[in-house]
Amino acid sequence: MLYIVPTPIGNLEDITLRALRVLREEVSVILAEDTRTTRHLLDHYAIRTPLRAFHAHNEHALVDKVVTELSAGTAMALVSDAGTPGISDPGFLLVRACRQAGIRVECLPGPTAFVPALVASGLPCDRFHFEGFLPHKKGRKMRLKYLADLPHTFVLYESPHRLLRCLTELSEVCGQDRRACVARELTKVFEEIITAPLSELLAAFHQREVKGEIVVVVAGKTID
Ligand code: SAM
Repeated sequence: MLYIVPTPIGNLEDITLRALRVLREEVSVILAEDTRTTRHLLDHYAIRTPLRAFHAHNEHALVDKVVTELSAGTAMALVSDAGTPGISDPGFLLVRACRQAGIRVECLPGPTAFVPALVASGLPCDRFHFEGFLPHKKGRKMRLKYLADLPHTFVLYESPHRLLRCLTELSEVCGQDRRACVARELTKVFEEIITAPLSELLAAFHQREVKGEIVVVVAGKTID
């Protein structure tokens, strides 16, 4: 049995009772993206389950070994540094391999950054496209062009030092009047959610040093 366990994106209280029970009692090993980050969470909840590193740089090499152990009956949980594994984080390769090997996989519902950003943005959330991180170089322009033409809201993950570049490029392809939202430091002390036309967001973030974790939500193209 493999459990996919979402963990807080900032506020340590954002973890379900079931997630805590699974991490504490149901598994013998927790596969963690960064064992130090997860240790901090486990210490907070006095959970002593052993941790093992499982991240983007070793997942290809480890998948077969983990599948063998799971097949032999070891119950494990997969967590990432924050939010839901598999969402712009390692997880897909392992889940696919488990499914192919007939191993039961359960993904617990829980925190992920794009849902609170989307819902709190005030932009239409009945239909949306999740893009995650844009490519930094190759294919970036093509992705932006594709996104700009979507008729529904789309969601990007962005790092603080690339926010201005991202807003500038979005403004070029979507037009500066398109409404968008910058959701920063969700669930944390300095949470900030600003929804405005791209031109205003650009002006606002131009004048300041941007820090923290960021989700950008952009309204879909309206057909005139
Ligand atoms: N697995 C995570 C999830 O379920 O959302 C995403 C992991 S991805 C490596 C990290 C990105 O998620 C950050 O660069 C940022 O775009 C977004 N993110 C994570 N925590 C956030 C927070 N507290 N506020 C805003 N964005 C956040």
